[in-house]
Amino acid sequence: MKTFLFLISTLGLSALGLAGATYAAAPAAHPIEVALTFDDLPVHGKLPPHMNRFDVMEKILTTLKKNDQHDVFGFINASTIAGISDREEALRLWAKEQRLANHTFSHPDLAGTTSTKYLADMLLNEPFLKKFSLPGQDWKWFRYPFLGEGDSLAKRNFVRKGLKDNGYRIAEVTTDFSDWSWNSPYSRCMAQGDSDGVAELKESYLHAAVSRLHYADQMSQLVFGRSIPQILLMHVGAFDAEMLDDMMAAYRAEGVTFVTLEQAASDPAYAQDPGFASADAETFLSQWMKVKKLPFPAVDKIPAGQLSKTCL
Ligand SMILES: [Zn+2]
Repeated sequence: MKTFLFLISTLGLSALGLAGATYAAAPAAHPIEVALTFDDLPVHGKLPPHMNRFDVMEKILTTLKKNDQHDVFGFINASTIAGISDREEALRLWAKEQRLANHTFSHPDLAGTTSTKYLADMLLNEPFLKKFSLPGQDWKWFRYPFLGEGDSLAKRNFVRKGLKDNGYRIAEVTTDFSDWSWNSPYSRCMAQGDSDGVAELKESYLHAAVSRLHYADQMSQLVFGRSIPQILLMHVGAFDAEMLDDMMAAYRAEGVTFVTLEQAASDPAYAQDPGFASADAETFLSQWMKVKKLPFPAVDKIPAGQLSKTCL
């Protein structure tokens, strides 16, 4: 029965000829915990007309509050603040309601620089975390830009030691659906007033979010024999702000309960280092899959070609 329910959820009701039932009524496969996290504060992606960085942040924060989410981490790159007032205001607003943490000052890829320069760039971000966080807030969580944890084991281990010596915990990512790639087409569709284009984007965004979550959960089952709490990477983009509430509802319909990053990361699975070197973006789970030489489950591709053409 469990398998049958999972198939319904994965294939969609229409594929099984169960027309008439709604997407939201799809039975949950099994409970999955998810921690939401957001990268690239305060500037990420293209904006639609008449929207600034503060508006994006405010919209995300309003949805988080509506869904009773606390201690949601926003990982900052202070190089993008550049003294611009709506960006500073956006960070202040986030820190007032949620949490800030370190994503390096200028978003380097560890594969393209030295470990020493990388750690120096991470430390350069700290004065801004001190400035914008509320007193007593713990911002010593680190998110690797481009999900690059080191293209050699020597670099990987050097940076991990540097982070630990500076009191940081690593905010791993286990699930990611390239949410950032919907922001440019969304800004184009909004500029053209193309509501059909926006509707198409909404559908493909939710499909990618849900299918990638199941994909990550399948990897968790293969690697750990159970559903570990998932840590979802999102970005502070205009379309993310538009879609967050619907995405959380779609996740809940799939059996998701939301937890904080601190709760998710306290799972013993995260105490183990996969020890995998790669120049490519890798999630915590994809690293383990490769270390253990496990076959990756099937998953729909992110529709990059379609997104690049929408509202052109
Ligand atoms: Zn980033």
